[in-house]
Amino acid sequence: MVKTKRIALTQLTSCWGCDQALVDLHLKLLDVLPALDIVYWPAVVDYKLHDLEAMPKNSIHIGLVEGSCRTKEDLHLLKVMREKSKILVAWGSCSAYGGVQGLGNQWDLQELLDRKFLKADTVTDGRIPDENLPGFTQSIIPNPDIVPVDLVLPGCPPTSENTLEALVTLLENKPYDLPDKTVCDQCPMEREEKRITQFRRTYEGKIDPTKCLLDQGYLCLGFATIGLCGAQCPTVATPCKGCFGPPPTVKDHGAKIISALGAIADMTPEELKAAFPDPIGSFYFTDYASSYLSKIRDQMRREEK
Ligand code: SF4
Ligand code: SF4
Ligand code: SF4
Repeated sequence: MVKTKRIALTQLTSCWGCDQALVDLHLKLLDVLPALDIVYWPAVVDYKLHDLEAMPKNSIHIGLVEGSCRTKEDLHLLKVMREKSKILVAWGSCSAYGGVQGLGNQWDLQELLDRKFLKADTVTDGRIPDENLPGFTQSIIPNPDIVPVDLVLPGCPPTSENTLEALVTLLENKPYDLPDKTVCDQCPMEREEKRITQFRRTYEGKIDPTKCLLDQGYLCLGFATIGLCGAQCPTVATPCKGCFGPPPTVKDHGAKIISALGAIADMTPEELKAAFPDPIGSFYFTDYASSYLSKIRDQMRREEK
């Protein structure tokens, strides 16, 4: 009889796309399912939080956490998952870096509430409700900065194959290392490393699907993004937005992108600024929260010296 390992999957603030990607494995899931005893997975089965809270410490072999902590409930759930799991995985870019919702860290909580409930075009009664709102966290802090995690598996979402491979490796008690390569390293497009004189949006001009998109003036961030997805977007003539975050040796994704653009673009700083009216959204799609924190950490280290 196969000896099963207890695993748990849960969601904090997120779109649940990481779960969807796992279910996309379809029949390939059958390769691992006999080895798994799924003890908590609210996306699929109606488990309750108290079921998880009642489990003994370290009784879950692998816990996968999707999403980041926008609410105090999220914070509690993350800490419970840490306590109950021997191996905790920050699963997906929300969990690893803070995710798209980390872009909200450009404003404070009150400004976000005002925008959502008082100023957005869809506002109906012009008040911030005092009922049925969860307690919000002041900002998005990436999960690995809240609790220790054993593996960070980025991706928005991670590919089904990434998750399966990580699960199988961890079930064999082996370490799962992230590659220090980029999307460009996985991309089959012909690259000439041309100087860029003008950036274009994808609806401008006609994309040649055989040639490097960056060479054609489309902002493709494959050069600064970890190569885990198999270059999914460029292979279908769509620029990489950097959703998997940077390779492990890069701490600040946006800074890396901006310095590279400075080197490859024959454009003045003013022209570059005009080309990217939302630089934070463009250069830190899923990792603004983690990049910002790493900058603060570096600053503190320098000041301590
Ligand atoms: S990482 Fe992406 S796919 Fe996964 S929950 Fe976050 S937004 Fe959704
Ligand atoms: S298309 Fe994008 S990912 Fe491919 S080589 Fe060019 S910059 Fe790199
Ligand atoms: S190519 Fe870039 S944007 Fe597309 S899935 Fe890969 S990392 Fe994400």
